[in-house]
Amino acid sequence: MRILVTGGAGYIGSHTVKRLLARGHDVTVFDNLSAGHRAAVPADRLVVGDLRDADQVDQLLVDRRIEAVVHFAAYCYVGESVKEPAKYYANNLQYALNLLDRCRRNGVGKFVFSSTCATYGVPTAVPITEAEKQAPINPYGNTKLAVEYALSDYAGAYPFGFCALRYFNASGAAPDGTIGEDHDPETHLIPLVIQVALGQRSHVEIYGTDYPTPDGTCVRDYIHVDDLAEAHILALDKIGPGAQLKYNVGIGRGYSVREVIRTVEEVTGKSIAVKEAPRRAGDPPALVANADKVRRELGWAPKYAELRAIVETAWNWHKAHPDGYAD
Ligand code: UDP
Repeated sequence: MRILVTGGAGYIGSHTVKRLLARGHDVTVFDNLSAGHRAAVPADRLVVGDLRDADQVDQLLVDRRIEAVVHFAAYCYVGESVKEPAKYYANNLQYALNLLDRCRRNGVGKFVFSSTCATYGVPTAVPITEAEKQAPINPYGNTKLAVEYALSDYAGAYPFGFCALRYFNASGAAPDGTIGEDHDPETHLIPLVIQVALGQRSHVEIYGTDYPTPDGTCVRDYIHVDDLAEAHILALDKIGPGAQLKYNVGIGRGYSVREVIRTVEEVTGKSIAVKEAPRRAGDPPALVANADKVRRELGWAPKYAELRAIVETAWNWHKAHPDGYAD
């Protein structure tokens, strides 16, 4: 399949691109390298460009006779989205709508969208099924949900099908050690704790210790980035005209912030200094997936079913690349 991957040089994007190429797909990566890394994808696959430039996107869809789009390009920080919503509405919503409409005009019939468990807000039941009401509590979740709405309406009206994958917490790195996580600034828990283990930070802050969870810290479902990547590949095979697929993708097991820190201590053999800090705005207490639907309908199953195995791959990457891609 001829596939355009927006944001394909980013964290989840690059792991998905690696897998798509291994399956023999013809992949074009479109990335402005604001968060992505040139070294994370093969040079001959990368087109540097910005989704703001809808005409450039249009040209690519036509020139490369694109059949499917996998759309990762987006900002992904909950906290930042609360402080700078305009940035999120422009990038995550406005440019996504531009892309979607260019797909429609050019007859691109398959679209895989990076959605998020943040579209559920504070869920009424955990583990979360797709039947849970979507009621985001931060701008990041709002922008992602808005795109889901547009996708549903497009699929209802045009010869177009989509799959929205509602990610839980992507983590880990490629087991061959070639690509991994590198955000600047880094805000995600696992890499931050690993940076403490590497001596790059003095301590990690625990954002909130008074949540209604077993140890008072937030609980999240950490899913290995390669397992997440595989869900995109299965989705591409499944999407037909009019398809409106929506799946939670997580391992179905939650770990608290303190459990994550303990696991990193076990894997690295280092003790991690922590400081208790106030809650971070926009964080629900617990987000754990019920992923029965994606297992049933796509035949997806995580290869990494335990946090420890996920952290081991992350540790291997960060140990070998203490400065990430160093770009
Ligand atoms: N977290 C934390 N300290 C940090 C970074 C994150 O306690 O320095 C917590 C955060 O509040 C959340 C969990 O770790 O409950 C996972 O956060 P992350 O930013 O990795 O992912 P998110 O859940 O925001 O997608």
